[in-house]
Order: sequence, then structure tokens, then C-alpha cells
Amino acid sequence: MRATWLEIHLDALAHNLRVIRARLQPGTGIIAVIKADAYGHGAVPIAHELARLGVERFAVATVEEGARLRQARIQHPVHLLGSLHPEEAAPALEHALIPTLSTLEAARAVAAHRPGATVHVKADSGMGRVGVPLEALRRFVEEVEAMGLEVEGVFTHFASADEDPAATRRQLEAFLAVTAPWRGRYKLHAANSAALLRFPEAHLDFVRPGIALYGLPPGEGFAREGLWPILAWKAHPTLVKRVQPGQRIGYGGTYTAQREEWIATLPLGYADGFSRALSNRGWVRLGSTYCPVVGRVSMDQITVRLPGPVGLDAVFEVITPDLDARTSLTGRAAQLGTIPYELATLLSPRLPRVYL
Ligand code: PLP
Repeated sequence: MRATWLEIHLDALAHNLRVIRARLQPGTGIIAVIKADAYGHGAVPIAHELARLGVERFAVATVEEGARLRQARIQHPVHLLGSLHPEEAAPALEHALIPTLSTLEAARAVAAHRPGATVHVKADSGMGRVGVPLEALRRFVEEVEAMGLEVEGVFTHFASADEDPAATRRQLEAFLAVTAPWRGRYKLHAANSAALLRFPEAHLDFVRPGIALYGLPPGEGFAREGLWPILAWKAHPTLVKRVQPGQRIGYGGTYTAQREEWIATLPLGYADGFSRALSNRGWVRLGSTYCPVVGRVSMDQITVRLPGPVGLDAVFEVITPDLDARTSLTGRAAQLGTIPYELATLLSPRLPRVYL
């Protein structure tokens, strides 16, 4: 369909799931976080594969993401993370999603639409974003139950599980100080990828891994967890040409060939998720050779300098499924001053995704 595509390796996904499961405390289940199109990897195929591998539950961020799973016949419990807005109650319940509550307004909207609906209550143990303050949690749960809703679970989210163990322990202790008496009565969950890798005591009833499933490190210092990146981005050149010294390339003429050079044009650009900030500083790989991006990244095309001529059947690696400093999602995120989460979720839906 296009001379550029993403390859998603389902065997690597299965490997990452095995790595996660091997870490889990007995009795801990998995809520696989597949919001934002499974962090750019394609939520429906990823959900089907994870379901085949026995993952019990999924979590998404928006009603539409949940609806897409239902349309794809995923019948597992699907959590809606974030804090439900009252206006989302009806569509969320129509698609049998499990709402997250941190306001009474949202609880009332859910109860009005479906008495007895299953919900999870979000507790704010220090993230400061959504959730009921811990000191108000008991009362909140009672009020929600008094509305006739079925509180199945109570959960929290860590602000810095990847970088601040002391703060994470404080959050966990504060959460458990209120919720430990509820163990067995409500399902308790807290751990994202970083927490499940670093804090076994945070495993509780479920863990909620996102990034680790995709084999990407949740933060610095997570390179050696045995996870495999599951995504590669590849491209064929659409044009390979020899340019003369002095020739400028791309918008603004920001690159000038210094000598006779070989340049390839690849059919991908910032609209595909290859950041314009990589103009004249990004890299792609051709076999073991790094080819620098020359000139500006355009919306749909980039130009790279080659060691020599290649055919239009050459395969360039735009993202390598490793931790390469120049061409992996993780390395490129560091280069751009962001995190692999952002670069993965920016991979455009218009890129064909091939599942291997
Ligand atoms: N739980 C919640 C509430 C989240 O918002 C997220 C992602 O942002 C996750 C779990 C998964 O986090 P990670 O991808 O770091 O595992």
C-alpha cells in the first residue's frame, strides 16, 4: 500500500508478557493498557493477541477506544481510565466499559443510566491529577454504593515509579493505609510498568502495564529488564539520486551538499510521526550504516544521505527494535528531549501496520 510501514512482532509481545508474568506475585492479574491505539501499535490486533495469550482485562482512555474493541468482538472487561465525565456515562455503559469514578456527579450519571453498573473508584494517593483524596475515599465509596452501583475495584496511580522509589513507597503506603482492610472485598490495583518491575509489594490484585508490553523502557535505568521492543518502522526509497556540490535540499535549503553525494528520498514525514525536529539531525539505518537526515523533514517525505547508490528495493530502518541511540524509539526520544511513550503514540494511523 505504501513504501513505508510498521512491523509489529507478536512473538516479542508474547515474550514481554512472559517477562511481566514471571515477575508477578501469585494471584495478581493483568489489565493490559492499550489506550492511544496500544501506544501506536494498533489496539485491536494487540488486544486479540493478548487475549489469546490469556490476558484477563484491558484498559483504554476514551469511550471511542473502548467501542472499537467491542466492534472487534473483544468481550473482556475493558476499563476506561481517567475520570469519567458525566456526559460519557451513557456511551461508556452502552459499550459495557468499566468507568473510573472520582466525582459524585459522574457516579450519579452512571447510576441514572444503569443501576447496578460495575465501576472502579480512583484514589489520589499523590499524583494530584484525578482521583478521590484518600481522606475522603471511604465516604465516597459508601456514597457510590448507596446509589446502587457495584464498586468492583479501587485503584491509584503512581507519579514517579520510574524515578523516585521513596515517593512511590509513600504513595503505596498511603493508599494501603486506607484500602488494606478492603482486600478481598474490592479489587485493588496501582502498578504501572515501572512499579510492577520495581515494587512487587504494589502488585495487589492487578497490575496495569502499558509500555512494558511494547518492550519500551518506562524510564531511565530500565534498559536491562529483558523486554524486547516489538515495533520496527521500515521504508523503501522512492528516489535515489546523485547530487553535485552546492546543491541544496528540502524546504528552506537548510542543507547544502559539500561534495558529490548520494541522497535517498523516503516517503514518510512529520505527518507520520517522524518529528520535524529531526531535520538535519536524525538518522535512519541501512543495514549497519547510519544515514543522516539531510534537509528539513517535510510532511510526507524525508531525505537522507547514503554511503553510495542503492536500488528502490533497499529497506531502510526508520525505527529499529532495539535501544540504539540514534534509531530506536528510546534513543530518538532521548535525542528529542521526550519519552518513548510520546514518539510511539505519535506514529500516525496512516502508516500501514504489519503483524508478524
Ligand atoms: N495506569 C494508568 C492509570 C495509566 O494512565 C497508565 C498510562 O499512562 C498506565 C497504567 C500504564 O502505564 P505504563 O505505560 O507506564 O505501564
